[in-house]
Amino acid sequence: MKTELSGLIMTNRKRSKREAAELSKQASKNPEVPASDVDSGFTMSDGEVHYLWYFIQGSIMDPFTRHWLRRAWGFCERHAAVYLVVDCAYHQIYLHGAAILYEDLFLHAQLYFKRYSMVPVALHMRLSNRRKCPMCELGYDEKSRSFATEETLKRGRDLTNLRELSSRTSVHWKQQVCEMCLGKNEGQHLCRQHFLHESSYIQIKGLELQRQHVTYLADQLIRYSRSFQWEYRDTGTLENEASIISAIGWCSGWGHLLKIL
Ligand SMILES: [Zn+2]
Ligand SMILES: [Zn+2]
Repeated sequence: MKTELSGLIMTNRKRSKREAAELSKQASKNPEVPASDVDSGFTMSDGEVHYLWYFIQGSIMDPFTRHWLRRAWGFCERHAAVYLVVDCAYHQIYLHGAAILYEDLFLHAQLYFKRYSMVPVALHMRLSNRRKCPMCELGYDEKSRSFATEETLKRGRDLTNLRELSSRTSVHWKQQVCEMCLGKNEGQHLCRQHFLHESSYIQIKGLELQRQHVTYLADQLIRYSRSFQWEYRDTGTLENEASIISAIGWCSGWGHLLKIL
């Protein structure tokens, strides 16, 4: 874990900060890019923004928290969307913490598909939430308050960096959106929740398609996460970057995410 953290710090220093600053500057000049969550119709409370600001500072690497997130498949749909906003707002395009978290989740998903493909009940149980979203359990919702400074909260809910990432990688993540999250009755790229909904303890529907989907995302996340290491600098692609959006959509659902992308 220490190596991952030091790798993150090292790479963040080494990678071109000028590039990120330039991208953010260009995005902020675009009048179509809203300055905050309020403009998107998806309002984040002060308490939620503050919690996630604290989370991305280091709690994400805490073994207890990581174990919880593994059992909950990340955050719920609402809090996963807030997490992506706050992480982008503070880390611009350097989402190494999120890459490590979702790489871990997808390696587990991949393992479950490999190990339990022939045992529907076991696969179904492993892919289900075995713990509640940590933020929901702690009582955070759209009304949560905070004593964080106005500056911290304002910056945390700035959508500029997320919108920039979203538009730059949209050709890739749009192909991964769950059709049932879009309101259709069926689809080929189902998120985890809709995949479970369509399956049962007796029969898994669309097993091979889901296995391929998870394998693809795990591979992209490994490449994305690795691109933050000094020895793999400049190897990241837009397709790798898009995988962080697709991974959050698969684990938690696309509903809230699509409101802010
Ligand atoms: Zn939640
Ligand atoms: Zn879905």
